[in-house]
Amino acid sequence: MTDMATDIRERPGAAALDLDAVRAAFPVMADTMSGRPIVFLDSGASSQKPEAVIAAHAEFYRHDYANIHRGVYELSQRASDAFDAARRKVQTFLGAAEWREIVFTRNTTEAINLVAWSFLEPKLQPGDEILLTTMEHHSNIVPWQIVAMRHGAKVVSVPITDAGELDMDALRSMIGPRTKMLACSWVSNVLGTVNPVAEIVQIAHGHGVPVLVDAAQAVQHVAVDVASLDADFLAFSAHKIYGPSGVGVLYGKREHLEAMPPWQGGGGIVDRVEFEKTTFGEIPFRFEAGTPDIAGVHATGVALDWFGGLGIDAVAAHEADLMAQGLRALHQIPGLHVLGAPACRTGAISFTVNGLHPSDIGAMLDLDGIAIRSGHHCAQPLHRRFGLEGSARASFGVYNTNSDVEALAESLRRIVRKYG
Ligand code: PLP
Repeated sequence: MTDMATDIRERPGAAALDLDAVRAAFPVMADTMSGRPIVFLDSGASSQKPEAVIAAHAEFYRHDYANIHRGVYELSQRASDAFDAARRKVQTFLGAAEWREIVFTRNTTEAINLVAWSFLEPKLQPGDEILLTTMEHHSNIVPWQIVAMRHGAKVVSVPITDAGELDMDALRSMIGPRTKMLACSWVSNVLGTVNPVAEIVQIAHGHGVPVLVDAAQAVQHVAVDVASLDADFLAFSAHKIYGPSGVGVLYGKREHLEAMPPWQGGGGIVDRVEFEKTTFGEIPFRFEAGTPDIAGVHATGVALDWFGGLGIDAVAAHEADLMAQGLRALHQIPGLHVLGAPACRTGAISFTVNGLHPSDIGAMLDLDGIAIRSGHHCAQPLHRRFGLEGSARASFGVYNTNSDVEALAESLRRIVRKYG
């Protein structure tokens, strides 16, 4: 099984990223914001798009677009082939055994809802528990709460330590006969904590509990292989990994997907429809009601090709360098507090500044051309765990440079001197 801590911190032999070429691939990096060169440190919310993805999306609409899996004419065949090819690219990217285990959704949120409604809801009984963690994004809390409420079941959350790591002893003691599902993020969107998901899956499976991994903040930062991870389900969004918005992915083990009923009705999911009764089609189409984002799915495949071409080792090494520099610089600013200190961390650093509201920090950084996120980042329980309502968050993408991180630190030093 992969040791994620080693994966991220020590990258023996990782080929370096050609940062100039990477930046040149993103048209927006040449733009300005508030009259300054853009320093984009909000990739955790959504990443920017390389020209390859933008062009593929536009070209598809220019020359290859038609509805899929319906037409016998050439254009429809071409569009269908592109859509099917993208599914195979996702399969390869995740290391899934079969393309049928890849379901396209609108985003991570919809993928989690699909599992909550189709996989879990039919099984839930009063008193059942769904085990989550305190560091979940609302998308990995609320869908489970909604299905739990309908059956007298409840969600319970594994606590986290002051360092922002999962309390694994608590997890071991909380999982038991009442637990019907465990859902946890691989990487926290606030703390950047990389959770030991392979170990979590092993523990859960030891109790016969299926696991959904929310990989929305993971696939763009760490190597993913669902075969060795052995999770029952894994979800991510294309827009956070340099692809278009509007496309999400649910990976599910074939045996689960085969046993699950459709969760939305409509065209494309059926075998035979009569007014008395409808029989449903095969997986994954059974879960893809209506016309999907055809061009978006095609562009998602292009994004994964583009990202794969960088090499995950090179990406991880580069982002580890940005993270180390960011933590060093921010820790030296008086009155600035970084949330958590997990041993294994990637993607995001969240912080507060004495006497300043996170939105004010965000607005002042904007004046310097620096884009960060401020607020609760859809993780209210996590912020409350630290006695906060919100924080400011800088998050990294492949295009960020040491100068970006220095610009952030310099701007924050000035803000703190003036207002902190
Ligand atoms: N899970 C995590 C950890 C996230 O960070 C996000 C988005 O920020 C989501 C789920 C939801 O993703 P989406 O809005 O693409 O559905």
